[in-house]
Amino acid sequence: MSACRLCFIGLASLFAVFSYVSSRTIFLELNYPTKEEQSFLKKYGYLPEPQDKKDLDFAYSLHSISEAVRKMQAFAGLPQTGVLDPDTRKLFKKKRCGVKDIQNKPTRNRRYILQEGWGRKTISYRVLNGSSTLPKHRVESLMETALAIWAPHGGLHFTRLYSGNADIQVSFARENHGDGFPFDGPGHVVAHAFQPPHGAMHFDDDELWGENLDDDEEDVTDFFAVAVHEIGHALGLSHSDVKASVMYPYYQVPVEKLHLDDILGMQELYQKDELSEEDVPESTESPVGYSSLVPRFTKADRPESEEENEIPDLCYTNYNTIQAIQGKIFVFEEEWMWVIRDRVIEDGYPRRFHEVFVGLPKHVTSIKAIYERQNGNIVVFFERKYWEFSRSFRLIKVGRLTDYSIPQYVPELTTVFLSNYNNKTYLIEYERFWRYDERRAR
Ligand SMILES: [Zn+2]
Ligand SMILES: [Zn+2]
Repeated sequence: MSACRLCFIGLASLFAVFSYVSSRTIFLELNYPTKEEQSFLKKYGYLPEPQDKKDLDFAYSLHSISEAVRKMQAFAGLPQTGVLDPDTRKLFKKKRCGVKDIQNKPTRNRRYILQEGWGRKTISYRVLNGSSTLPKHRVESLMETALAIWAPHGGLHFTRLYSGNADIQVSFARENHGDGFPFDGPGHVVAHAFQPPHGAMHFDDDELWGENLDDDEEDVTDFFAVAVHEIGHALGLSHSDVKASVMYPYYQVPVEKLHLDDILGMQELYQKDELSEEDVPESTESPVGYSSLVPRFTKADRPESEEENEIPDLCYTNYNTIQAIQGKIFVFEEEWMWVIRDRVIEDGYPRRFHEVFVGLPKHVTSIKAIYERQNGNIVVFFERKYWEFSRSFRLIKVGRLTDYSIPQYVPELTTVFLSNYNNKTYLIEYERFWRYDERRAR
């Protein structure tokens, strides 16, 4: 090899190292949040506060920054890249609620609950003032409508007070207003509210508040949409990462009705006892609150023509899952299920599992993870959600993997089983597993 060629290789590799280092530096700088962005990440619970707040040289590691960004992206429904790309950076500027997204020390393991509700069904409210753009009588009227959206889902009754202390006190305020959570002028944080037993709802009076807005009124903030969200907090709910839900933290218009996620949160807070297995008579109808939201599977949905020839043969198939439930063997493959007792397939099987587990959404195309709880309920997992059915296959609950303390980065479970040995539930994703203690709910 000639000297010249060696020299060329040397230069080329030097250049490669240089460009790697410089592009990496640029990448790191781009991905490191500004001071304002860091305070956003801390304020909403994505970054921990530094141990020593007076340490001026304190800097977060790149790892903790990108973990925080990933969590923020997950909550907002963006791709979880951990990188501060333009779409992610837009979140820092968006109009939103000032309440934390992630509570660092949840008192319960359920995602949408910070604490209990009011512990009673009659709750009073009082509007203390109007905003500079929305008179008090309009605020009162819009509050009444917003409360009416929530009332049926907790069996609640709201009464308006005109003097004295109400449970939920509604007011407009600017910047520092005495509760330790100052507002920030026009834009970004538009309101915040406190959970029971505090219950106050504050709206930032530096926003232009309005109602029945047209599409071109971007500067104006819709009072009704924000009020419906803040009432959720005042009743005890925290933020939800379900984008279509009312409890999603970023400002969305219009708000017309609650999402199933909001309703399940309310039932958990105010109707848990009423909806328990013992109290609700067995019926083929959906329980309260589900009927309008969870479509029931009907015969019309089934394409009859190709029914017979597409059933997999149980003897030759690879099962999606096989599980002992109710002393029988349940086998799932594609959209079909078999129930086997004493080595004999029970009458009527195979059936499509959607006909048995009525209430599972259509996008659940296969069942891989299913198990019988100690109380006899049957839980079906799909992606990051689960559906809990009674012994008689009646849907009683929809929840998320976070209820089982499964970290956000796990896309789905591959197997779940209840161990007879230690009465713990094992939740498995390929080679990783989590143990869940049913009695202690953790
Ligand atoms: Zn909020
Ligand atoms: Zn406040």
